[in-house]
Amino acid sequence: MTSESRRDEIGERVVRAKSKLEWDTPMYQLAVSQLDQTAEIMNLDANIWERLRTPQRAHVVSFPFRRDDYDTVETVFGYRVQHLLTMGPTKGGIRYDEDVNLGEVTALAMWMSWKCAIMGLPFGGAKGGVRIDPNSLSLTELQRITRRFTSEIIEVIGPDRDIPAPDLGTDGQVMSWIMDTYSQQKGYAVPGVVTGKPIEIGGSEGRLEATGRGAIACAVEAGRRLGLSLGESAVVVQGYGEVGGTVARLARALGAKVVGISDVKGGLYNASGLNLAGVDAWLRENRFLSGFPDGDGVTNSELLELPCDILIPAAIQNQITKRNASALQCHLLVEAANGPTDLDADAILDSRGITVVPDILANAGGVTVSYFEWVQGLQQFFWTEKEVNDRLIELIQRAYHEVESIADRRGVSLRTAALIRGIERIADAKRRRGLFP
Ligand code: GLU
Repeated sequence: MTSESRRDEIGERVVRAKSKLEWDTPMYQLAVSQLDQTAEIMNLDANIWERLRTPQRAHVVSFPFRRDDYDTVETVFGYRVQHLLTMGPTKGGIRYDEDVNLGEVTALAMWMSWKCAIMGLPFGGAKGGVRIDPNSLSLTELQRITRRFTSEIIEVIGPDRDIPAPDLGTDGQVMSWIMDTYSQQKGYAVPGVVTGKPIEIGGSEGRLEATGRGAIACAVEAGRRLGLSLGESAVVVQGYGEVGGTVARLARALGAKVVGISDVKGGLYNASGLNLAGVDAWLRENRFLSGFPDGDGVTNSELLELPCDILIPAAIQNQITKRNASALQCHLLVEAANGPTDLDADAILDSRGITVVPDILANAGGVTVSYFEWVQGLQQFFWTEKEVNDRLIELIQRAYHEVESIADRRGVSLRTAALIRGIERIADAKRRRGLFP
């Protein structure tokens, strides 16, 4: 056999082996297409490129879950994907959502790898999920499911191994139960196994607001590039949870007019700016925004098309697609959510001259303060809120400007530049470590 035909044969075998990847879903395809497009522009080493397209480890578990009535036992599915083990422990959130699947978690784990590398954090990307609607659970059910899921993945997490954090549908309380379950098994307190913990058990000042704070810092920097001052801008925020709520409040504190906000059920619009203190008071009495008197009700899709200077999606993935990208009326789009814009929409926004600060940069504030929390926990030495916020702003501004200068130098979008920055760092590390055996 000639070496050429042998190569062909191997090539065919590789293609066959990869024709049915378990995680191959639209969201995974989006993450891989972003990688592929960038790798081509960068002229990335083909072997490293290939390694980055699939996760290094993907864990799928199924476990029994007993409802409060003690009669019903359901089988629940959970995932933990570790995309890249080259850079240090892996890092990324756990989401509870009834649609979560292996492909979604894999895409999110890849994005975590780029995010950590852009910020210069010593982590590879990971993500986890449990396929359940958290709103359908009582507090005791939420605790039971969290503790059981933790024990299912206990061998693959740990402060030196893989460190979960909050994501959609999970919060500091869920992190506390994960920390407790893990610590019970070890026989001593291990706060470093998760981040996003409450302060009482080793959480960090500033973590709760970190994602929103980072997104606002990016909006300020990108606004400067466009001659758009945040303090004089009209801002629309999709989502009013931990991230969206912080984004709206910080934008307002800097003088911006927050003209639109939304939750899962729908949004509010007020062209002269919403009274956020009034909104917060309303939400303390009513669970949802709907019915708030001082604004017009809009649907979530209408919200994205409202006239504004800066649009900040801070909810879920796949919100801006070819269906609505031509209708957006903003000048700047800051992706506080993960994966809100698909590839078609990206191209449309680019051709319309709308600047996009990509998720892997715009929402990297969360994992950055998670890193600070992890470091503080390891050293048993805690920082003030000011120290945390100052260091976050310093790192995110530096990352933003590194990305912006790549964009200018190469004539590419901020998303492509951010991907180049992250992938380049990972490729350098992979080259240094070499291949085993
Ligand atoms: N879930 C967040 C994210 O998508 C935070 C991850 C972390 O803090 O590890 O970036």
